Amino acid sequence: MFLYRIGVPEWTIGILRFMQPPPLCYFDANATTRIAPEVLEAMLPFLTEHWGNPSSAYAFGHTLVRAIDEARAKAAALIHAEPREIVFTSCGTESINAALHSALTTCPGKRHVLTTAVEHSSTIKFCQFVQKQGYEVTFLPVDTDGALDLRQIETFIRLDTAVVSVMLANNETGVLFPVSELAAICRSKGVLCHTDAVQTPGKLNIDVKQLGVDFLSLSGHKLYAPKGVGLLYVKHQTKFQPYLLGGGQERGRRGGTENVAGIIGFGRASELALSNLADANTRVRVLRDKLENGVLQAIPGTVRNGGSEPRLPNTSNIAFAGVEAEGILMLLDQAGICASSGSACTTGALDPSHVLLAMGCRPARARGSVRFSLGSYNKESEVDHLLKHLPAIVEKLRANAPIESQMAQS
Ligand code: PLP
Repeated sequence: MFLYRIGVPEWTIGILRFMQPPPLCYFDANATTRIAPEVLEAMLPFLTEHWGNPSSAYAFGHTLVRAIDEARAKAAALIHAEPREIVFTSCGTESINAALHSALTTCPGKRHVLTTAVEHSSTIKFCQFVQKQGYEVTFLPVDTDGALDLRQIETFIRLDTAVVSVMLANNETGVLFPVSELAAICRSKGVLCHTDAVQTPGKLNIDVKQLGVDFLSLSGHKLYAPKGVGLLYVKHQTKFQPYLLGGGQERGRRGGTENVAGIIGFGRASELALSNLADANTRVRVLRDKLENGVLQAIPGTVRNGGSEPRLPNTSNIAFAGVEAEGILMLLDQAGICASSGSACTTGALDPSHVLLAMGCRPARARGSVRFSLGSYNKESEVDHLLKHLPAIVEKLRANAPIESQMAQS
């Protein structure tokens, strides 16, 4: 109306209306989450008024230590840990690197690492790096459902194994791993155990005492806190060698001036994650199942990647025969829908997901797979929007696909 009154012709207004992006349907919560309004509200004073350095001797800075400690207590409560066992970091990747680095440097005689073939690249790349330094690394296989066989783990632990690192939930398929049983085996053999639990807050009840691990990693931007803050749990009395050396922050366990606002955000998000557990396991699970069943029923040549249970309540990974996921994602994007493929885009080449390949999927199936991951803000109308658009998108792509992939589909 305002544009019309200032003389912009009506046809231009029509075009502008037409050009408005469709409302966003976000099904990529495993990639990142928005900052929850409650989290932003808690953080803002620490970006505006209370911007001091917590290490300063004067009150303006030093009083921030109390706010950080309150956030630490909230983050500890999320995983049933003690506040002194929490080290704030910059992201999940740093937490994972720091845990593995500490395990290797505090067990100097041990030169072997045991992990899985389906970990996040932050674990895989660190392990490949230490391999080049002369460590031996075993990447455990998974079965076609993406599950891990505990019995084989036991046989792979060696006298010189320093650390076992296995994720609690896979970011691409949502499949859960039996970490508490694994940690019990590690304890009985005197081996350190780390778990990458980045995908689990607000979806699973995380209890470090029940899990029995020595280290656990989390990331702020997966739980409605901002990017740039992470958490490493270090079990009380576990030897720890800092990864970042510098000032004495985090009780000497992580040098670097604290990301105060980020830490406050993490604390508030931890409270929300606890209170959202029920919603994730009821409402979000129902939406995920509606999406998954809707796609599998409406579109021929589709199949779920990974076992259905035990699995995160928000994640569904679906293979579409005869199409490339990138095509689906592009056309979904035009309809205002965000999802992702597990593929990493490296120097222009689309690599099929290492997780799906490790599960025995053929490269063509892996390249035609899309991950839908839901979160606290998804509504049923968004799932309906996806189910309205996706069948036509896949049909269109299949009709235009080269003849070989059409044959692969049949
Ligand atoms: N581990 C898992 C399972 C993840 O999904 C991710 C991020 O996608 C990470 C680790 C790395 O976390 P960050 O992005 O905070 O470094």
